Amino acid sequence: MGTTAAGQPLLLGEGGCCGRLLSVGTHHPCLGLGRCRPYAAIRGKKSVNRQAVDTLKQQIPLLDYLQAQDWQPTRHLCRGRCMGLCPLHRDHRPSFLVDPHKNLFYCYGCGRGGDVIRFAELYHQVPFPQALALLRQWRGGNCLLEEAVGFYRVQLHRHGEAVAYLHHRGVRSPELIEQMRIGYAPGGRLRGWLMQLGYSFAALRQSGLITGTGYDAFVRRIIFPLEGNLYGRSLSPSAPPHRFLPGAKGGLYAWEQVRRYPQVILVEGLLDYAVLYQAGFPNVTCSLGNHPNTRQFRQLCDAPRTVYLAFDVDANDSGQRASRRLAGRLQEQGISTRRVLLPEGHDPNSFFAQGGEARQFQSLLEAAQP
Ligand SMILES: [Zn+2]
Repeated sequence: MGTTAAGQPLLLGEGGCCGRLLSVGTHHPCLGLGRCRPYAAIRGKKSVNRQAVDTLKQQIPLLDYLQAQDWQPTRHLCRGRCMGLCPLHRDHRPSFLVDPHKNLFYCYGCGRGGDVIRFAELYHQVPFPQALALLRQWRGGNCLLEEAVGFYRVQLHRHGEAVAYLHHRGVRSPELIEQMRIGYAPGGRLRGWLMQLGYSFAALRQSGLITGTGYDAFVRRIIFPLEGNLYGRSLSPSAPPHRFLPGAKGGLYAWEQVRRYPQVILVEGLLDYAVLYQAGFPNVTCSLGNHPNTRQFRQLCDAPRTVYLAFDVDANDSGQRASRRLAGRLQEQGISTRRVLLPEGHDPNSFFAQGGEARQFQSLLEAAQP
């Protein structure tokens, strides 16, 4: 047993929260050991820990975190505040109020409220330190995706074939490419670049950006960032055309900008979305496939509106069958629908990419069937 300087606690073994402490001086055994009580108010530790907690809260907008847990507002109030069903108790009328500016929530039903950490504690039913860990992990995943998106966006401008592909698909506006944050994954370079930034191989694998064998998940794909996910459209005809990272594909594309329109155009793919937006239809959104998930379906129904379904008119009829089925389900929820009939063999992307004009599409909207 060695000697220690007076006043320093000596840690014997690792058992228990504080280990077995032998206090050489007169201090309380736990003094100065941040690892015992990470959030206890001990001298300088207090301010450091509180600062870290405050930073975490600032970096995670409550509304973003709620939406990532599949919560969505059903009513928008003044000053950006909104209400929806409470995710913390069985709620039938929206009683959960969120103030995105103050980053706080309060439920008029169960009477609980607080910040994003309090929400994580209640929602995941974990104690404070674990709630912090979950939030840090969530933030870490988001940071990693953001880094990857930044990397892919730079690559787009370095690879002529990627820009040529977008042009060929009718996506020509540099402003739109910026706005949608479209990138390109050449393959084989992302892993090295992210590890150079300090991300571990385990973190890269967990995100799905890198496969178990260490290869880039996206190779020769146009990349579109989504909420908490990425969509990659293959340039090679031999590869599967569509690919997402593991996990939910998120809600409807750009829904916060679209939801205020009384008439909304729903398309299957992001390339459909891009050409329509570019042609002057800002009220377009996309479900990334012709089967909207539960969250997307709820979004379509979150206010009275007319939904124009502009799905593919393909040879096997799958787009139109999905369109008819979705129209029926929406009507059951009191949402009026119109089915846009594109010329045989077309989707909105090919319609515009092959020279269709905005006024022609407008005529199709006007002729759409209830
Ligand atoms: Zn509640």
